[in-house]
Amino acid sequence: MYDVAVIGAGINGCSVAYELTTQEKSVIVFDMEGVASGGSGAAGAFISPKFSKAGELKEIIHDAFVYSIEFYEKNFPHLFKKVPLIHIAQDEKSDEILKYYKKTTDLKLNNTKNDFKNETVCLDGGIVDAFGMCNAMCKSAKFVKSKVNSLVYDDDMWVIDEVYSAKTVVMATGAYEQVIKEPYIQLRGIWGHRIDVKTTTKNKNSLHQFVSISPSKDGVLAIGATHNVHYHPQTSKEPYDIEQGRAELLDKASKTINLENIELIRDYTGLRSGSFDYMPLLGQLVISKETLACGNINFKTKKPNYEEYTYYPNLYMINGNGGYGFVLAPYLAKILREHILAGKKISKRISPARFFFRWVKKKL
Ligand SMILES: Cc1cc2nc3c(=O)[nH]c(=O)nc-3n(C[C@H](O)[C@H](O)[C@H](O)COP(=O)(O)OP(=O)(O)OC[C@H]3O[C@@H](n4cnc5c(N)ncnc54)[C@H](O)[C@@H]3O)c2cc1C
Repeated sequence: MYDVAVIGAGINGCSVAYELTTQEKSVIVFDMEGVASGGSGAAGAFISPKFSKAGELKEIIHDAFVYSIEFYEKNFPHLFKKVPLIHIAQDEKSDEILKYYKKTTDLKLNNTKNDFKNETVCLDGGIVDAFGMCNAMCKSAKFVKSKVNSLVYDDDMWVIDEVYSAKTVVMATGAYEQVIKEPYIQLRGIWGHRIDVKTTTKNKNSLHQFVSISPSKDGVLAIGATHNVHYHPQTSKEPYDIEQGRAELLDKASKTINLENIELIRDYTGLRSGSFDYMPLLGQLVISKETLACGNINFKTKKPNYEEYTYYPNLYMINGNGGYGFVLAPYLAKILREHILAGKKISKRISPARFFFRWVKKKL
């Protein structure tokens, strides 16, 4: 029996595996396709804060950004590169937002000289080797390439596909079908496409405007990513139009820099997984049937008490990172580790129970 089974070997699952194996826990990781085969393998893995005025999402990404840069630098310096980042306003509205951001942020800003006409924010960001990082993080866990179809709780342990057992299960399945189906858990799969191109154009900085453009490495730039809400690999009838995706990426990138003598090297495509309030999901799962059967819980309140709900024992989810998976995952995995091993509370704002509460309220 393992201490923990992690389902899904993207950046979320691998970060959790890392946090727990470094605390001497025995961890088994399952992935139906392989390590970093989902959204994580497609990511440009730019590490950037969220350049907005205010809000909970901006705050959690800010904290995760500060934490993750230090985490990657300290633990995986060979798979992480600190790079100067220039975020450029797209229009008048974002010009205003960036001006406000610069006045109010506590991040250290750089005085990088540049020729962009619009407002810019310059600071130190980073780029992760997405595939290498996921593999390195889960290397001390046992890896099994298999799709998990069933989870049964029996005799104080989870039995996985009738073969493996673990005291605790963490579901890190991204935008794919959930293994435990609860009606209040709904995630949006947002298809993304990015490309690596060879070009004679040299670029020193990580540029973020209509798309992100990496600094040049051996004459190659990574450009990404599109946000396509119409295509889904599991439900769309028409195949994905890769030529159109490439054209969109090059068109958007060329609004920021002049790309010369371009040769396409590789396409990367995958699904991001987003929640309906854009905040990540981290924590235990409510058993809706049992909680509703309880009868004496007040769902009409504005201040729900999530502690009254009934939860699947020792079963957690980590998901909904949207376009910030590589920024959020190390931070969320640390919070989950502190909860599982030391009982530290997880903020209500990221608890999956918030969606249960909203789902019940809608039904009333
Ligand atoms: C094109 C693109 C560019 C991006 N760029 C950036 C970026 O620059 N910076 C950034 O921070 N983020 C970026 N992202 C977002 C980031 O990639 C995601 O937030 C992150 O990958 C989510 O990680 P995850 O582990 O939740 O999901 P995934 O990486 O999708 O992992 C889920 C895994 O679970 C497995 N799985 C699912 N169900 C089962 C099952 N039943 N049994 C076994 N295995 C299962 C899947 O095979 C998959 O490997 C980008 C995403 C895309 C698509």
